[in-house]
Amino acid sequence: MVEAPPAPLRLKLDGSALQANWRALDRLSGKAACGAAVKANGYGLGVREVVSRLADAGCRDFFVATWEEAKEIADLVTGLSLSVFHGVRAEDIETALTLAARPCLNSAEQVARWKEADGGPCDVMIDTGMNRLGLSANEVLSGVLDGLEIDTLMSHLSCADEEDHPLNRKQCDALKRLVGITSATRLSLANSAGIALGTRYHFDLTRPGLSLYGGVQSQDLEDHIRNVVAVEAQVIQRRKIKPGDTVGYSATATATEAVELAILNIGYADGYLRSFSESGTAYAGDIACPVIGLVSMDLIAVDVTDAPQVGEGDWLEIEYDLPMASGQSGLSQYELLTGIGDRYQRIWL
Ligand SMILES: *Cc1c(COP(=O)(O)O)cnc(C)c1O
Repeated sequence: MVEAPPAPLRLKLDGSALQANWRALDRLSGKAACGAAVKANGYGLGVREVVSRLADAGCRDFFVATWEEAKEIADLVTGLSLSVFHGVRAEDIETALTLAARPCLNSAEQVARWKEADGGPCDVMIDTGMNRLGLSANEVLSGVLDGLEIDTLMSHLSCADEEDHPLNRKQCDALKRLVGITSATRLSLANSAGIALGTRYHFDLTRPGLSLYGGVQSQDLEDHIRNVVAVEAQVIQRRKIKPGDTVGYSATATATEAVELAILNIGYADGYLRSFSESGTAYAGDIACPVIGLVSMDLIAVDVTDAPQVGEGDWLEIEYDLPMASGQSGLSQYELLTGIGDRYQRIWL
């Protein structure tokens, strides 16, 4: 078989920045242990590469959303703690009983299913105001959890990225009221932004995701978090256009003067969504090359008039600093990461 040539688009992933981010979040978590949310393929970076690096850095608690995701990394976390946020459906039970991972039980139904299966250690999610997953405090007080062997009792913040939102304190107090009421050995509340809300929010274990990967939603984290992901795309063609020429689908961009374009091998199928049309930037060294016209499925056009050296085969860096790219596109930092497709060559530095 002929080996495939290298992909015309690539991610440069900074493994030491990933580890430094975990260490910073661990430090900021104070006395609490710091875990890692690695769901959705490690937020798009590649879950196995992420988990092995975080385990090397000292992370002991990993969180995924589904049992398929747990299976993907089970061999990398033997002896460590792995929790599955979405709990157990009937069709998960067999896998859940075989894998060395705990379900995070989210409802009285899931609790009953786990007891019925004699499943052993588990985590439990309490809903303290988000109204997404979890049992209510009243269900806990009425004894639904009696007989369970609970490792971590957790809840999730709705508005951690808004420091002054009143729901933060309300949710924190609601979880605090459950201290000592269940068999849980640990309590956990804070995601990345929650860590920055202060000691009261740390409990025994924190669960950052976004900030491990370079996302920052809280000013207090800005100085601690390094960028991890760099996106690069290769030039397929350079072209000159005249005043009055239009560019791309729907001819949304019309040149008012002579312009030179580079056509790059990246598009919305690679997570570079159409919201970057006319707003994203590529860089040829220090020279900013703005995206012209609509983003196509596999291509974008950028203005390289000021970068005469750029030609076929060159690599341009696409602006993907998460807060910055989020501002350009209106996409959340989460969407920017998890939307990254699988056509990239992933290069860990
Ligand atoms: C995704 C997730 C996290 C991590 O949140 P970030 O905002 O990415 O830090 C923590 N806890 C739960 C329950 C989650 O679903």
